[in-house]
Amino acid sequence: MTKILVVLSRQVNAACVRMKNVEVPMKKNSDSQTRRDFVRSATVPLVGAMLFGASTSVASAKGSQAQFKYQSKPNGSKKCSACKFFVKGKTATANGSCTLVDGSISPNGWCIAYQAKTS
Ligand code: SF4
Repeated sequence: MTKILVVLSRQVNAACVRMKNVEVPMKKNSDSQTRRDFVRSATVPLVGAMLFGASTSVASAKGSQAQFKYQSKPNGSKKCSACKFFVKGKTATANGSCTLVDGSISPNGWCIAYQAKTS
């Protein structure tokens, strides 16, 4: 009886060792594969959308003219054409735009965000 138990024990041990070394293929569960595929396929567009969204929100993060207390006339010698945020219009006297303030901006305008050009 003892001899039989020893033989059985060895066979069980051998079977366990064999099972340890066998690679069991992952079950192709359609749900988990769908979820995995979804995560893979959604990750890159999601990251891209996040980056693109972040860059567009920064680009369009202008404030209103009212928020910046924009006026269409200079504040002493300070005016938009001398401000580093001013984007020229088609001509020197034409309205342009501003990187901070929304809307059409007069080169003779001014707002509280004025910063003189350094160059
Ligand atoms: S920040 Fe203000 S002062 Fe400067 S260009 Fe824009 S609107 Fe004009």
